[in-house]
Amino acid sequence: MAPINGSLNSDSRKLVRVQSDNVRYNNDFIEADYEYQTTRVTKQGETIVATPVTTSYQFRTQRHVPRTGLMLVGWGGNNGSTLTAALLANKHHLSWQTKDGERHADLLGSITQSSTVPLGDGVHVPLNSILPMVDPCDLHLDGWDISGVDLAGAMARAKVIDWQLQQQLVSKMSQMKPRPAAHIPGFVASNQEMRVDNVIPGDRQAMVEQLRKDIRDFKESRQLETVVVVWTANTERFSDIRAGLNDTADNLMAAIRANHSEVAPSTLYAVASILEGCTYINGSPQNTFVPGCVELAEKHGTFLGGDDFKSGQTKLKSVLVDFLVSAGIKPVSIVSYNHLGNNDGKNLSDPLQFRSKEISKSNVVDDMVESNQILYKPGEKPDHCVVIKYVPYVGDSKRAMDEYTSEIMLGGHNTIVVHNTCEDSLLASPLILDLALLAELCGRITVAKRDEQNGTSEHRPLRSMLSILSYLCKAPQVPEGAPVVNALSKQRACIENVLRACVGLAPTNHMLLEHMVRFPAAKISGANPLTSNGSVANGH
Ligand code: NAD
Repeated sequence: MAPINGSLNSDSRKLVRVQSDNVRYNNDFIEADYEYQTTRVTKQGETIVATPVTTSYQFRTQRHVPRTGLMLVGWGGNNGSTLTAALLANKHHLSWQTKDGERHADLLGSITQSSTVPLGDGVHVPLNSILPMVDPCDLHLDGWDISGVDLAGAMARAKVIDWQLQQQLVSKMSQMKPRPAAHIPGFVASNQEMRVDNVIPGDRQAMVEQLRKDIRDFKESRQLETVVVVWTANTERFSDIRAGLNDTADNLMAAIRANHSEVAPSTLYAVASILEGCTYINGSPQNTFVPGCVELAEKHGTFLGGDDFKSGQTKLKSVLVDFLVSAGIKPVSIVSYNHLGNNDGKNLSDPLQFRSKEISKSNVVDDMVESNQILYKPGEKPDHCVVIKYVPYVGDSKRAMDEYTSEIMLGGHNTIVVHNTCEDSLLASPLILDLALLAELCGRITVAKRDEQNGTSEHRPLRSMLSILSYLCKAPQVPEGAPVVNALSKQRACIENVLRACVGLAPTNHMLLEHMVRFPAAKISGANPLTSNGSVANGH
């Protein structure tokens, strides 16, 4: 896709500037000295001892926003075509008539484009105004699909975008054609075979080489400085993880050379991306990131993120269960039905692919349950059942029905039933954008440790597995040894507070302490007469 010039909303591109002795803005970087407060917990006999710990870091963020490309695996699918249409509609400021009246292009559902963060003094600013980020209008798009239908045809096939908007986009999207894909029968459902007319010939090694060439070609032809690859193709079955096969980077590369039948296409895309120095994000539940793949990314210093876009039912689950458990209420049964009629639903009607989805949807309450040992004995979990049915008539308009049954005081029960209907791809596509933009930003952040004796250590990049993307993923992948966080509010706080740390601002704490205690007004000469406490209200 051609670069999109101009910006979505010029006001939202204005960056916040922090005024502090600890923060320096120069031509190349924003540098912030930062005191990170944590708590070490030990046990002395029966007593739990908590010790505050302060670690001094220096965050450095490169200010130059690179020319960025986004390659979608499964470009011709519902998500791929919907995201492409949405970006073009925004680029060209398109509007169209619906039965409810005129509608203008927007990016609702994208946290980077349509959400704000509290800055201080009750002022909220766009999330993308803390640090320089790629403007979606400047993204270059490309990708692969097993179906060679052009993007206009793919958009029509998806039946997601309003007809009048489709008509305005056809001439632009018909020029976009997915590259031939790495396809190996047996990984996605056999009911997908009728789509297959656009594949890379040869064995797994040949596929990796072609995918690498494709990435290089895209980079060179568009003069891109960085490329992010996102899997938004169909869900694959899980791969076996075996010693000697995919447990180390060397074994995985040998297995690809030997065309071993257990190496999935998604792992081939991930390996090609890693070898080309690109971030790879897995938007589906399958276990693309076998241990050898993770080791390869670490060796090459490239980023991985995943798994499985967290768009609807699971997002709500990671809010509701967090609320219940933190309220001291005990969820004992969670039953989730879905039915959908798009190609994703068709693929998931096969038991092996459904199993991948079932696994990724099942573990999403674990951290919340484990956090409360008043409610749950060690190892105890609520009953949790996930059902997905393919009902072609409802198309992309997915239905999700959940029943949460909880125990409340003195033998009472609380049952919450939720029915959610919405166009699945209009929820998921903005997430792809956020994943790409946040992952690109992570590539410009380095962190050093500071201590009084040794000064400041060398600046280091973030670890390969980008846990900061957890908010956008059903089954968050985290660096080895790190805890998995599923609760949505904590995942969101992580993003906000890392952005704040990069500009030397303390984490948002929501204490509002300044309003809890009334102290006599201090007489400070030179205080701003407009505000009682001398701080200057940041007028918005
Ligand atoms: P889709 O079936 O419309 O699109 C997938 C595309 O991938 C198809 O065009 C297909 O031809 C292509 N494909 C299959 N195997 C491929 C391969 N090896 N290489 C390249 N292309 C290949 O599905 P969708 O609705 O766009 O969803 C995409 C993925 O995102 C699914 O796995 C789905 O489970 C996952 N997901 C979607 C949502 C959502 O809300 N839409 C949420 C979470 C996860």
